[in-house]
Amino acid sequence: MSAWREVAEGVFQRRYDPLDISISLIRGTAGVTIVDTRSSPAEAQEILAHVAADFDLPIVAVINSHAHYDHTFGNQVFAGQTGVPIYGHHLVATHFQQFESPRLKRQQQDPAREPDRDWATVVLTPPTVPVTHRTRISPAGRDIDLIPLPPGHTDTDLAVFVPDQRVWILGDIVEESGPPMFGSGCFPFGWPDVLEELLTEIEPRDCIIPGHGSVINRDFVIAQLADLRATAAMIRDGWSRGLSIEQAVAAVSDDYPWPPQVLESALRRGYSQLSSG
Ligand SMILES: [Zn+2]
Repeated sequence: MSAWREVAEGVFQRRYDPLDISISLIRGTAGVTIVDTRSSPAEAQEILAHVAADFDLPIVAVINSHAHYDHTFGNQVFAGQTGVPIYGHHLVATHFQQFESPRLKRQQQDPAREPDRDWATVVLTPPTVPVTHRTRISPAGRDIDLIPLPPGHTDTDLAVFVPDQRVWILGDIVEESGPPMFGSGCFPFGWPDVLEELLTEIEPRDCIIPGHGSVINRDFVIAQLADLRATAAMIRDGWSRGLSIEQAVAAVSDDYPWPPQVLESALRRGYSQLSSG
């Protein structure tokens, strides 16, 4: 566990285990905004404690970078205790119903499967302010742009931009401390286009906080975009040659940057999208 790191004036990142997840804090004149809420109410309580210890300001808003559990399962604490607005992509509630809710139910019914996790206390809490289009908010007097993205890492990705310091908070559309995650509900073919479109706005001097890992710059995003493009091409190639997922994984070239499991989950998801037309 780390301390808050000020990555630009009044914009902080704190990295938490498990998962080396980034929690971001944007300081305004009369309060702070928190991006992402971790995996459980207990983990979210820890964020509240750390904010209270290190900032003499109330939390005035919360933003979800996307629907995945490690970024949203602490939402209920903020909704309940601080009662502040929670902003998120307008499809988060639907994504919860489709993916997070059935998985959470299975986990809650069989806690022995993951004894180190605290699923029992989680109550799914979608954003209270669904964001449908690019929106500027000014919590505590500081401008923040919320940019709902087309389907990529999920169909709920929301880029957060702090214009006065040119800081981007991008959730898991880029990851630094591990390979990007091709989980359920990802879009391996659309994902590279999402990054490419975003790169038209990202400048070389900009600071970028990824969902997991340390702060990165534009060049890092360009490199990860190339790897995502290569992955999409490999899926299409395997599909067109009639390779099974196992054969396609085995056929991967030596310079492929990510472990076979990463490619395998990308293939699984890509093949199912290609087969459904
Ligand atoms: Zn994540």
